[in-house]
Amino acid sequence: MAEKMENETIKKLKEELLINRKNGYFQIPDEKVKEADRFCEDYKKFLNEGKTEREVVAYAVKAAEKAGFVPYDFNKQYKAGDKVYYNNRDKALILAVIGTEGCKNGVRIAASHIDSPRLDLKPHPLFEKDDIAWLKTHYYGGIKKYQWMATPLSLHGRVVLKDGTKVDVRLGEEDGEPQFCITDLLIHLAAEQMDKKMSKAIEGESMNILAGSRPVRADEGDNLVKLNIMKLIHEKYGMTEEDFVSSDFEFVPAHKATDIGFDHSMIGAYGHDDRVCAYPALMAALNVKNPKNTVITVLADREEIGSDGNTGLNSQFLHYFIADLAQSEGLRTRYVLRKSKCLSADVTAAYDPNYASVYESMNSTYLNNGVGMCKYTGARGKSGTSEASAEFVAEVRNIFEQNDVLWQIGELGKIDAGGGGTVAMFIANLDIDVLDVGVPVLSMHSPFEVVSKLDVYMTYKGIKAFYEAK
Ligand code: MN
Ligand code: MN
Repeated sequence: MAEKMENETIKKLKEELLINRKNGYFQIPDEKVKEADRFCEDYKKFLNEGKTEREVVAYAVKAAEKAGFVPYDFNKQYKAGDKVYYNNRDKALILAVIGTEGCKNGVRIAASHIDSPRLDLKPHPLFEKDDIAWLKTHYYGGIKKYQWMATPLSLHGRVVLKDGTKVDVRLGEEDGEPQFCITDLLIHLAAEQMDKKMSKAIEGESMNILAGSRPVRADEGDNLVKLNIMKLIHEKYGMTEEDFVSSDFEFVPAHKATDIGFDHSMIGAYGHDDRVCAYPALMAALNVKNPKNTVITVLADREEIGSDGNTGLNSQFLHYFIADLAQSEGLRTRYVLRKSKCLSADVTAAYDPNYASVYESMNSTYLNNGVGMCKYTGARGKSGTSEASAEFVAEVRNIFEQNDVLWQIGELGKIDAGGGGTVAMFIANLDIDVLDVGVPVLSMHSPFEVVSKLDVYMTYKGIKAFYEAK
């Protein structure tokens, strides 16, 4: 039995050996808090302008061009400091800044996604029932359907008319514009519904949107409300009913991003997942200084449905982009990929005391504790995920420490409570080292998600430090 320890020695040992992580506000100076607040003012504007993947791409292209980025030319040789972007079908975007050593030591990637759960229109959406015009929707991504009832929605998207004209639509965001909604069943008649399982209480097929209720004036005839609504849509957008078949129309929550709490410390908004990582990644791309290795920022589409499709990261568009860069430097793609490193920037679940039973408190990420790392995501026995190696976690952790980036590490929730994935595994499958990092979110996937301003800023600082690491 060892000698009894002095209190001072115990204190010292605890400091040296044990994790003693405190809430970020006890670790960083006021000046940094102000910087975070300033950063988030622009983030809120970005959220309000970019409510769909197309709108985020348009925003990012504009911001990138202003910062000196030009469209990528596959046949061109680039030199250190050159800034290029590759617009993938107006739904996904790659930004690259050529490093002083190009990509011979691999590239440094931050990949986030810019699609969010929402309600898409079906190809034949418009119908009239009981003198009301409705639009049929098909939800996209993981939603709790009840959250989308009785809440104001706006219409966003693009339609390509029969003659090929592209028309961008954004309705319900400006003062005076109409908004939309799905009706909910009044509580007085909901006795049967209230006894149903939550997953059965609302059927996907009943998520029809109120589109109008005034008919064209006529002595007789049917579908006169539908006709009037189609007439109004035609006057505004030049569309006929058939043009719906060639549209990407999305209904999203109509509310604007807003501060939350008496202290303004949080932001409530639609679409934090994953624009709260996409914005820091975009800003890191625009502000990175003299990167040694070429840095690549990916704003991907289709993550919320599994990353499948040619604008999602389960396709080859990132791979091909890196291949072209490698080729332009006379390098073999596979050697570049093998040496490349990536932060998969996606949100993580913030520990929520209201639902404490699904979290494992020792291994959760918390609001205001900084950018959250996840070594792996997935479900059950770590299936459906890649896992960052000890070596790569060590590397990122050291970069964060050296650059005063507040960080934490955790899992999504309890092992058997559920699960989720990110784009990490698709990038890891290209033979690239990947670690998930991102902002902890409350009410994830709801129409109104909440994040901490401090965590948003730390995610920006973290990605930028990763890009600038020597
Ligand atoms: Mn996400
Ligand atoms: Mn998500």
